Amino acid sequence: MMNRRSAIALALGTGMGAIQGCRRDGKLSATQEDPKMAPPKKEREGQNLVPVEVDASLEIRTIAGLRPFRSPGFVVKREERNGKTLVHNYGHGGGGMTLSWGSSELAARLAEDVSGKECAVVGGGVMGLSTARLLQLRGAKVTIYSKTLPPHTTSNVAGAQWWPFSVFDDNRRTPEFGVQYVEAANISYRYFQGLVGPKWGVRWLPNYYLSDDPPVNGWIAGPGGVLHDLQVGFHDFGPGEHVFPAAYARRFHTMMIEPATYLAELLGEIQEAGGRIVVRDFAAAEEVLGLPEGIIFNCTGLGAGALFGDAELVPIKGQLSFLIPQPAVDYNLLTSWTYMFPRSDGIVLGGTYEKGKWDTVPDDGMRKRIIESQRRLFEGMRKIQAEG
Ligand SMILES: Cc1cc2nc3c(=O)[nH]c(=O)nc-3n(C[C@H](O)[C@H](O)[C@H](O)COP(=O)(O)OP(=O)(O)OC[C@H]3O[C@@H](n4cnc5c(N)ncnc54)[C@H](O)[C@@H]3O)c2cc1C
Repeated sequence: MMNRRSAIALALGTGMGAIQGCRRDGKLSATQEDPKMAPPKKEREGQNLVPVEVDASLEIRTIAGLRPFRSPGFVVKREERNGKTLVHNYGHGGGGMTLSWGSSELAARLAEDVSGKECAVVGGGVMGLSTARLLQLRGAKVTIYSKTLPPHTTSNVAGAQWWPFSVFDDNRRTPEFGVQYVEAANISYRYFQGLVGPKWGVRWLPNYYLSDDPPVNGWIAGPGGVLHDLQVGFHDFGPGEHVFPAAYARRFHTMMIEPATYLAELLGEIQEAGGRIVVRDFAAAEEVLGLPEGIIFNCTGLGAGALFGDAELVPIKGQLSFLIPQPAVDYNLLTSWTYMFPRSDGIVLGGTYEKGKWDTVPDDGMRKRIIESQRRLFEGMRKIQAEG
């Protein structure tokens, strides 16, 4: 690709190759004899990306939500209680939007043949809705019981980049959980691809992860990682090879989900297919087990801790500030502690991680820090792009 400097040189009739091809002894170099052989100057990655306009005056809202995190990972499990089949599907931390179809598919499989049977799904976030839809597609008659529904769920607060990040602690990962995680991620990855487009609010975008040290490859990501095949267009750019104000930039493409569009569409589809909705707040497991349906799915997210006595379930508070939408921005940018996701309902600047915090009140100091750090990031990017 041509950059601004080589375009000017060509316009002046002095191709960069010809200038570089001059030899001290006055003889013609190979590149002077044949300008086509001149090695083209490599454009920096991101030269044509549009930097975000970051200014406190462009902010439209700041929100916070609680990720339902379990150190050993999310629960997909079947048990028989009080003559009922109870299937758990909760605790997906910072990756619940991503894992929703896959985890719900694993949960639905545990119930075996549900065709023609009445099923209850407790919870109206992404996990409850995905489970409900998959059960309908297996011929079940589904009722969703939930305290809240979209747009008033944690799922509506999500970023929501397709990537199963912050889902478990690596030192607690068992081999069984590892298999469940990889299977859920792969099923979900395929399923979401069928929903790409404006109707569902799902699209593909490049992601750039910035770091001052060379990127680290772990169990999940990078060459050799269990999900590396899902990092499409993967490439690591070193110092001087990209336009971002950091030494290293790791790029791969993923899907982005617009929660407001996506969850409303999914809820609508379930209702159109005959799904019933009952708004109800359950105070105890006995109330859940008292439902008339014989097969019950527990998709209560963070609520499962109190309902079913799971002491491993803890909140990780995350805060997001939104700037006015900027449709020309078409990439995600992530640093070690903050990110930028361009959505149709605003430029999302986030996403903090505060373990054990139960309140959903946005912190004003944090809001200012996020916006200021993003302002500096894009100012730096603009400067490097201007250098060409
Ligand atoms: C700031 C932030 C950013 C995030 N970014 C991403 C991201 O980029 N990518 C990603 O994949 N994930 C992301 N997540 C994580 C994702 O939002 C969660 O993992 C996901 O929403 C969990 O879905 P869920 O359906 O289990 O829970 P929820 O959406 O919380 O739904 C639980 C449902 O159960 C109901 N319920 C609970 N208790 C009861 C009860 N006692 N009685 C009746 N009903 C009950 C609730 O009312 C609710 O309807 C983010 C989360 C936050 C907070």
